[in-house]
Amino acid sequence: MATTNRRNFLRTSIGFSAATVATTALGVNPLNTLVGCSSPTSSGKESAESSGTPLEFTQEPLGYEYNALEPNIDARTMEIHYTKHHTGYISKVNDAIKADKITYSTPEELFANISKLSDTVRNNGGGAWNHSFFWKSLRAPVDGNAPAGALMDAINGSFGSFDQFKEQFAAAGAGRFGSGWAWLVSDQGTLKIGSTPNQDNPLMDDAELKGKPLLGIDVWEHAYYLHYQNRRPEYITNWWNVVNWDFVAEQLDA
Ligand code: MN
Repeated sequence: MATTNRRNFLRTSIGFSAATVATTALGVNPLNTLVGCSSPTSSGKESAESSGTPLEFTQEPLGYEYNALEPNIDARTMEIHYTKHHTGYISKVNDAIKADKITYSTPEELFANISKLSDTVRNNGGGAWNHSFFWKSLRAPVDGNAPAGALMDAINGSFGSFDQFKEQFAAAGAGRFGSGWAWLVSDQGTLKIGSTPNQDNPLMDDAELKGKPLLGIDVWEHAYYLHYQNRRPEYITNWWNVVNWDFVAEQLDA
């Protein structure tokens, strides 16, 4: 992928409009900033000084209709989830970023310093980012939906088989007590499965599971209750039908 395309992809893939352009103008590699590398320029203080543009989360169009994922995820759930829950997280975190005078310019910087910030920023910032990521990881159902190529090889290598991977991932989602997310991450090139509570994610400096998110499933009741009620495992089983494996592969390559 050409650098420009990859940069554009990364920028749109995580749902924010911040200082990427400004840092580019100053010669800072935006890719380093986006992926949270530990170069001096990616620390919150320096980037804030260099760009002067605090992070602002935005909500992008879904990219498909509310009913596109049916019957696996119903249209009413998608509509409420997108227009109420996600919109709410974005507006609250943007308010809190302003109120707290936070100067980090990328989600990666924000999450890498989340332990120093308020619960409002943590919960709503996680909610804003996680859902943008989640929407992009879904697509209309595909028969025999499965990854291919290098991603499938990596999954087979790490978990034995695609079925074993799905079993472990589903168990992480079903076993998360209360509200949270299950994730597939790449931790220095090693694939790992785990879960996080509430709206935490693996980019947070104090998360139990750390790494670059490749795939995540929202297991809050609001993500499935209208259609599945208490049957979270059934929601997870059907959710596999709508995973956008192309998106997951792009995260692995990015
Ligand atoms: Mn949700």
